[in-house]
Amino acid sequence: MTELIGDNIDDTEYGKYFFIYKRVEHGNKIVIYLKSKPHETPCPVCGVATRKLAATYHRVMQETPYCNKNVTLDITAYKYYCLNPKCKRNVFCERLPFAGKNQVRTKELCKFILLNSLNTSNNQSSINLSYLGVKIGREAIQKMYDRLHFKDDPNIKSIGVDDISVKKGSKYATMVYNLKTGNQRLCSKDGTENHLDVG
Ligand SMILES: [Zn+2]
Repeated sequence: MTELIGDNIDDTEYGKYFFIYKRVEHGNKIVIYLKSKPHETPCPVCGVATRKLAATYHRVMQETPYCNKNVTLDITAYKYYCLNPKCKRNVFCERLPFAGKNQVRTKELCKFILLNSLNTSNNQSSINLSYLGVKIGREAIQKMYDRLHFKDDPNIKSIGVDDISVKKGSKYATMVYNLKTGNQRLCSKDGTENHLDVG
């Protein structure tokens, strides 16, 4: 086991209220230990800011790989009291700027997974990602696609449409391109999705 960085190393990579205090590498796995600094934060229910600490809480999530090694974040953050007497929430967990509520992957890792899965099947993507240091099954990739929301852009004047082969040619998905910007969107994958817009 190799400790890469000692205690109390400031780092703003995860927002100004979080700092890395330790990194540990063991084989092809890296664990980054993050801690929150006490700060003023709004209650997610009423929006009133508070600084009154209630307790700490612990979260573990997967981060984007480093040198194709699997990276885990071990996070210690705070719970705060809401001091607004009219609010129904007494204690709340501070939000993490780099991950959604109840998510087990950082936002950056979600982007990494989706971009790596765009032109291939979920199964093949899961295998490819495992070589890059990301652990995710094909069902979890599909769930990430299912949660995506696409916004219509009425200003698009011209599009291109392509079929791409997935699952070794046994299935096809449709890609739609915004010809002006080159942006692309997957319209159907494994025959399950029907989004049709390009941003
Ligand atoms: Zn509140």
